[in-house]
Amino acid sequence: VKLQGRNNYKVYQAAINSQATELFILENSLYNALERQEFKVYYQPQVNSSTGEITKMEALLRWQHPELGLIPPATFIPIAEETGLILPISEWVLKTACLQNKAWQQTLNLSSLSVAVNFSGRQFQQPNLVGIVEQVLCETKLAHRYLELEITETVAMQDVELTQKILRQLDEMGVTISIDDFGTGYSSLSYLKDFSIHALKIDQSFVQDLANKDHQTAITTAIISLAHGLNLSVVAEGVETQEQLNALRILQCEIMQGYFFSHPLSAEEATRMLTAYQPH
Ligand code: C2E
Ligand code: CA
Ligand code: CA
Ligand code: CA
Repeated sequence: VKLQGRNNYKVYQAAINSQATELFILENSLYNALERQEFKVYYQPQVNSSTGEITKMEALLRWQHPELGLIPPATFIPIAEETGLILPISEWVLKTACLQNKAWQQTLNLSSLSVAVNFSGRQFQQPNLVGIVEQVLCETKLAHRYLELEITETVAMQDVELTQKILRQLDEMGVTISIDDFGTGYSSLSYLKDFSIHALKIDQSFVQDLANKDHQTAITTAIISLAHGLNLSVVAEGVETQEQLNALRILQCEIMQGYFFSHPLSAEEATRMLTAYQPH
């Protein structure tokens, strides 16, 4: 029994070590990833559910590690947050996405196309966040109203007063704010009306069960009517099937995003898609 216990312990230790080693390797290479140009921004369209028009592209970060291959954001963003690397990385994403959107507006004559960029918790604690956004918009010459920032409700609720202040300043600048993963975090509905926000994004977990289970329709229905009651628009994310699309149309959800329309695309692929795409 004793021996077995020790062996188990060893196996456990080995697993921990290799996980720690992997984290260590990731953390180390994350420090150089920006200057080595290993990051790419991918874009996923958001579609108006009644006209089929692409109104916005969400910027989604990708890391192509030279040895480990493509590392998903869910793996490296927590490390980037912990090390503080998220700040320079996010600024790069913001700038890249704004530049790209400006280029699409000009070269493809898509003058009303917007871009949505994800913001993390750490960025909200950054003293000069609003100044950085202002500077990037100035440098890239993208009009403020074409930038949307997505924050999760968990981030928004961390420090309600600070969130209120930052969102008010961004709103006054003309930047749009949406609450991401809505319905999954710790949310206090009473604060929702005090935040200067423009849209709720229904989390994909609710959308994906839409056509299957009645109680999931109830949650989605409630979120949509809550949003409309507060004069906010609603985006459904993770739309994968025609059934989900139909259900969302009946519920009068105005914007949709998901694999049913398109996977996230590289800038080149997205440009090709936007070029081929003709509204009506
Ligand atoms: P998110 O902001 O909720 O983004 C949606 C995620 O769902 C993306 O995963 C997207 O590729 C995926 N997705 C889109 N349509 C579908 C669908 O129809 N079905 C399913 N199953 N999935 C779909 P991704 O790109 O791996 O990003 C994961 C998360 O990483 C994002 O969740 C976001 O929280 C974070 N993230 C990505 N890029 C950035 C960034 O530039 N900055 C920050 N702070 N976070 C980012
Ligand atoms: Ca998002
Ligand atoms: Ca989301
Ligand atoms: Ca998410």
